[in-house]
Amino acid sequence: MIAALRDVVVEYAGRGRALGPFSLAVQPGEIVAVVGPSGCGKSTALRLLAGLEQPGAGEVERQVGRGGTALVFQSPTLMPWAEAAANVALPLELAGRPVGERRERVAHALRRVGLSDAARAFPAELSGGMAMRVSLARALVTEPRLLLLDEPFAALDGLTRRRLVEDVHRLWAQTRPAIVFVTHDVDEAVYLASRVVVMTAGPGRAAREVAIEAPLPRPPGFRAGAAFRNAVEEISEALDKAAGAPV
Ligand code: ADP
Repeated sequence: MIAALRDVVVEYAGRGRALGPFSLAVQPGEIVAVVGPSGCGKSTALRLLAGLEQPGAGEVERQVGRGGTALVFQSPTLMPWAEAAANVALPLELAGRPVGERRERVAHALRRVGLSDAARAFPAELSGGMAMRVSLARALVTEPRLLLLDEPFAALDGLTRRRLVEDVHRLWAQTRPAIVFVTHDVDEAVYLASRVVVMTAGPGRAAREVAIEAPLPRPPGFRAGAAFRNAVEEISEALDKAAGAPV
């Protein structure tokens, strides 16, 4: 286990319960997707896993330090006045790493996401997909053991999303961080993760867990196969039920 939530409950003053009781144990090197209705507490669960917030009840256990954890959000949150390389360098700068090391690791991280040529570009000059890859490079530059992705591709078009999901698999295969990926998109969850956790409507609890039995990265044609389609169907049904939607 690298990080775990045990029966956690989060309540916000004046708004009542936002999450839980909810449990999720993340194993080193695994990819877990979390799907659930909007507002059920998925982002809150990620913040707990990141150690950024404390639960009102239950326990959070983290076997990884702040430096070993990276978060990526839906909007790439890049500094608009700084070149891509400077954006990627930020976590190393904050950690006080020397300039030479920074330069080397930034170049390596940009290479990993296929953006060496864009090192001097400003965020406004990048497409949405490229900006997200810079954001991924910034998350990877510290070689995290726990990577938390909060609907990172929600604002992008379908084709770009598919490419980025392949990028995530490729990057994951190099250093095998544990990944927790929050998404609304069931197809994306099934393609990306080795297990998918379905949450109920808020305050979110675990409704269902589905294991996806296929190698990572996915073999060619995986989306057209029965394993993929059955898992998507099972999760979509669980999600409908969890959201209280009429069937
Ligand atoms: P999700 O990511 O599943 O959409 P969130 O974790 O963002 O859900 O939010 C869960 C619930 O908690 C929502 O009702 C949201 O409005 C509320 N919430 C989230 N963060 C805060 C906060 N900082 N203060 C008050 N309420 C919050």
